Amino acid sequence: MSVRVRIAPSPTGFAHLGTASTALYNVLFARQQDGTFVLRIDDTDVERNRPEYEALIYESLHWLRLDWDEGPDKGGPHAPYRQSERLDLYKEEAARLITERKAYRCYCTPEELETERRQAQSEKRAYKYSRRCLTNPLEGRSVFAVRFKVPGGDVSFKDMVRGEMHFDGDLIGDFIIVKSDGYPTYQFASPVDDALMKITHVIRGEEHLSNTPYQLMLVDALGYERPRAYAHMPLILAKDGSKMSKRKHPELNVAIYREQGYLPEALLNYLALLGWNPGTAQEIFSFDDLLTAFSFERVQHAGARFDWEKLNWINGEYIRKLSDDELASRLRPFLPQLDEATVKRAIPPLRTRMHKLAQAVDYLDYLWTEPAPPTLDAETIERVKSAINVLQDMPWQAEAIESALEKAVAESGVGKGKFYTPLRDVLTGKKVSLPIHYTLELLPKEVALQRLQRATNVRV
Ligand code: GLU
Repeated sequence: MSVRVRIAPSPTGFAHLGTASTALYNVLFARQQDGTFVLRIDDTDVERNRPEYEALIYESLHWLRLDWDEGPDKGGPHAPYRQSERLDLYKEEAARLITERKAYRCYCTPEELETERRQAQSEKRAYKYSRRCLTNPLEGRSVFAVRFKVPGGDVSFKDMVRGEMHFDGDLIGDFIIVKSDGYPTYQFASPVDDALMKITHVIRGEEHLSNTPYQLMLVDALGYERPRAYAHMPLILAKDGSKMSKRKHPELNVAIYREQGYLPEALLNYLALLGWNPGTAQEIFSFDDLLTAFSFERVQHAGARFDWEKLNWINGEYIRKLSDDELASRLRPFLPQLDEATVKRAIPPLRTRMHKLAQAVDYLDYLWTEPAPPTLDAETIERVKSAINVLQDMPWQAEAIESALEKAVAESGVGKGKFYTPLRDVLTGKKVSLPIHYTLELLPKEVALQRLQRATNVRV
């Protein structure tokens, strides 16, 4: 039987980096095994789901080129692929469990359950539902949830990252599988769908490791075949090892990488290395390299700390490897103000100075905005004048500009830094710019001279 894997993101906010990373591992495994990658949308949280969040999931995965074989937008043999469209199915399966006495209706109110919980707390024992509605059902109530009658015992399974796992099912109380509003819980809908969609390997984040025994007990009770294996991938942590939160850590939002000009192939490379290591010094992996090298045995158990520096380095490497034409076309969306020829001319000096494409905007925005003229002292003004002198009759070409300016520097008696910094400031409004000869060349000659002249109040 061929391999089938899935991701099951919930559309409750921006496209999450964890989803991208889990998708990558699923896609790698599916392609290695000649299997099928399914995208299921876990949208049973009515309060928090939004169609626009679902759209963000598609958009981010398309951007990363992590394409799926079956999904809500693609269809497939196990449609529908949105949980909100499968509610009847969960109801049927819950009803079957009730008939088989593997689940029961629970009429306890939240207040009653809270009292039970407090009682357990005061007696210093771990809380488990008392099974009151199983052993001593209440009469005359109509609002109910459905609880799974947990069989207990040892629950073990194979985890491709962590090896053989064991959980004590006796520690798990009867848990709710259908809420009083009729919606299934994640704990129920997820294994039902995994089984009905014939998922053979469940590859997901470590935060779900403790859910696996719950889900496996349900799989058994429902008479389904178990997935062949699980893989629980390390959590992505902040640099200091703390847990990241959506609110405090914008790096969890996939959209920001696109906005800042990280290349999708570089981000994938980085994400792969975040939880996995190849066992060699190699750090740059194309998708095809990953297909050859990736294995779950080399996935780390501990959380993976997010490191901007490493990502920036990897992205810089990818940027430097792009051809001029390719880099120009990737830069286009960042530089809508510039024509193609100007973008191309900017590439030689830019390429080695960027670790992300958005930096091109900082380097080049002087080409479409007018910087405020700085105030210069008399000596500096003299040097700007001497620059104007040598530049005036120069052909407007970077190398010619460079040698002309070098002559002016030599005659000025000050160093290059002292000579060029005010020029940069005058031309771009910034102290840091591309090398001065490129900074000048990229501007039309008359604009460059005008800016210099304005700074000296000299008229031609
Ligand atoms: N909807 C769950 C999540 O987004 C899916 C977890 C799973 O893969 O089972 O975390």
